[in-house]
Amino acid sequence: MRTIELTEHDRFIYEHEIRPFVPQRIFDAHTHLIANHFHPRIEETMPMACDPVLGNVDCAYLQAWWRALLPDANVAGMVMGFPTTDVEMALENAYVAEQATAAGYPFAILTHPTTSAEDLRGEIERLHPAVLKPYLVFAQNGDTAMAAITDLIPEHQLALADEYGLAIMLHVSKPRGMADRDNLADITRLVKTYPNCQFILAHCGRCFIPPNMDATLDELPVAENLWLDTSAVCDLGVFMALLTRYDRSRVLFGTDLVTATAFRGNYIRLGMSWHACTTAMVKRANGMPDKTTFAAYESLAALCRALRLSQCSEEDHENIFYRNACGLFGFSGEA
Ligand SMILES: [Zn+2]
Repeated sequence: MRTIELTEHDRFIYEHEIRPFVPQRIFDAHTHLIANHFHPRIEETMPMACDPVLGNVDCAYLQAWWRALLPDANVAGMVMGFPTTDVEMALENAYVAEQATAAGYPFAILTHPTTSAEDLRGEIERLHPAVLKPYLVFAQNGDTAMAAITDLIPEHQLALADEYGLAIMLHVSKPRGMADRDNLADITRLVKTYPNCQFILAHCGRCFIPPNMDATLDELPVAENLWLDTSAVCDLGVFMALLTRYDRSRVLFGTDLVTATAFRGNYIRLGMSWHACTTAMVKRANGMPDKTTFAAYESLAALCRALRLSQCSEEDHENIFYRNACGLFGFSGEA
């Protein structure tokens, strides 16, 4: 097993900004496994996963990260494969199903928009996922950066998710993510059309910066089957807007571990854009030493600060870190 090293700076951040605010039971609603050999062009499609610390993530390694980052909590989660353009989807889905089932966790299968209803039904019957995970790289609309929600997951697949009562983990496209007017109109319609389908908007609706979260919250409906996860968002302003303006019973804690957030760095705002910023990218002036931490800790520290500043109750903490997801996934904590 690879060792996970924490520095004194990591420990300081955990001790002061995280540990006092997280409950003892945690459900991580957004995580990924990855078997590098099911991604034949991985150097090109997901270079991060070629880092020996960030690739080849099985359940045991994910659990090792949970124990390293949240040593005082008992953590479970929902696991998904890794959606790259070269993924051997059926193989990675079977791998994730086997790993998650052995650990007693709900899991997602990756879906491709061209898969027929019949084939997807077969996959659902065979593997019994709790979640479908479409992704924008598979969209067939010609420009994945402009894909609509139904380009990621077409209506015949949403109808199946509705029939089986599955969740959809949506990483929405378009330049402003969920703040896009078409995305807002689509989600408003879809939550009504497919009431048994649980829509999870990953990364706060892909709102990594406050103006996008603000514009999303101006229009986003509150619905029994609509959720937002906190994964990979590292911006205090985004979390403040979410926690003060949206229904806290619809918010799910997630980390996006391991590949996307176990690096040392941050997801940073630059104007109306946002970027993964790794420690190697930073030019340090005046001999300023490297005291970076994991992006997963940046996200957790920002979320914990927002929970505090928005006067969330103990119950809100429990709900966001654990109970909301348990209700959604029917998770009892018993493996
Ligand atoms: Zn993710």
